[in-house]
Amino acid sequence: MTLEEKIAELKVGDKIKFEGQEYIVINRKRNKLDLKAGTLSRKISVEELIEKLKNLAKVEEVSQEEIAKIVGSEEEKEDPNRKTYKNYPYNFVFLGDKNKVERKPYSDSIGNNSGKLICSLVNKTPIFTNGKTKKIDVKDERNGKTYKHSLEDFLEDNGKYLVTSSSLKGEIRNIIEIITNSCIKNVESEKLNRKDFYTPLELVPEEFRPCKNIENLCFACRMFGSTGDQKSVEDENISCIGKVYFTDATIDKKKAKIVADYVPLKALGTPHPTFTRFYLKDRGSYKKEGSTIRGRKFYWHHRDKINGNENSLNSIRMKGKNESDKRKKFNASLKFLKPDNKFEFEVSFKNLTDEELGVLIYSLELEDNLLHKFGKAKAFGFGSSKITIEKFLLDSKDKYRSFTKTYDEGNKEKYLKIAKDKYLDENRKEIRELKAILNIVNDLDFSNSPFPDINWFSKNKDVYLAEILEKVK
Ligand SMILES: [Zn+2]
Repeated sequence: MTLEEKIAELKVGDKIKFEGQEYIVINRKRNKLDLKAGTLSRKISVEELIEKLKNLAKVEEVSQEEIAKIVGSEEEKEDPNRKTYKNYPYNFVFLGDKNKVERKPYSDSIGNNSGKLICSLVNKTPIFTNGKTKKIDVKDERNGKTYKHSLEDFLEDNGKYLVTSSSLKGEIRNIIEIITNSCIKNVESEKLNRKDFYTPLELVPEEFRPCKNIENLCFACRMFGSTGDQKSVEDENISCIGKVYFTDATIDKKKAKIVADYVPLKALGTPHPTFTRFYLKDRGSYKKEGSTIRGRKFYWHHRDKINGNENSLNSIRMKGKNESDKRKKFNASLKFLKPDNKFEFEVSFKNLTDEELGVLIYSLELEDNLLHKFGKAKAFGFGSSKITIEKFLLDSKDKYRSFTKTYDEGNKEKYLKIAKDKYLDENRKEIRELKAILNIVNDLDFSNSPFPDINWFSKNKDVYLAEILEKVK
């Protein structure tokens, strides 16, 4: 076999040695190879590699068994008999079909629709956005020692309580990413542990990694641009092309229904993504070649807390006889808004295509029984909310002739139909999963506790997180 033939046959999991480094092939795309050696990663074209090898070293032969040890064999799929657990506050929506990620230049998607959507947001469960935090001294009744406890206020500005624009935009973008088979924006690009070989972002299949080039953007990136926080963004222009702008959602403090005093809640012990049995597919690990993240993270709605009274919060309230039982160092007391507050916000847009506008409208209003989640303490069931488009205004075609900006009332149904026909195909697993996890009706019960108790994880080392549509066992 010639050197060229050997390189043509290199596939994911194969090892190759040159320039004194042993690399492993972690991705292969026609003429390009992604290589990794420990923490070092590099991209190289086949021609360049042949050039280097001719001069330098040799391709190391590796047996199939050895490769299987590193990458896991093809047969190692989800075992239907594996032990699973589902009553967990979050789960993952399937990333989508990697062969159907459509990218095109930004300039190919300049549409004729500009205007704004005037929206309301009503929270069906308590909602909390953190504003000012103050620390108070609490004296431990038992040993007399004093420690600090956090009291957190709802974010406010100018006499209004706010749900921030970035929280609104983040949620809507996550949903649009799924519907349109776009890249995944919301995934950690830093290593979680010093001993890991890969970051969560590196365990995203190449096709779904964040777009980097303005000439090659997925649907969501063409609409929202990029926030510019990905270190690897090569094209700075992406960060300034957003066509959709959100204001904060606000409610007059005088009208808002807020709890009378700070409520001590249990500590939000959300496990880190290091908990691989829940975060990665097929017994993956951040050390293992070929591991993949499970998908896009979403929190379930808590049926017992939807429009619930004070009692529905019993399972998340820190209990105890006196102040020092309830107000510890590790938990916090929050002043949150009770259910049924009506916030207002606006989404303005420019140059959207009919399809993009339809997808935006769908993602804001969703369907009957489907709710969004905003703010903090989502694992505790907070933030389940319904958005309604109160007014749909399109820039008037005559606007350049008049001195003031004028609008025409838009026809929501027309755009919704375009979006639904093209994107909301229930044959797609990710669409079925998305609708299931956004639904207020589900087969989970969080009325006793949002998380399993502390010892559960160590006692159940062989248990995996069930998929969204898997039956509860
Ligand atoms: Zn993208």
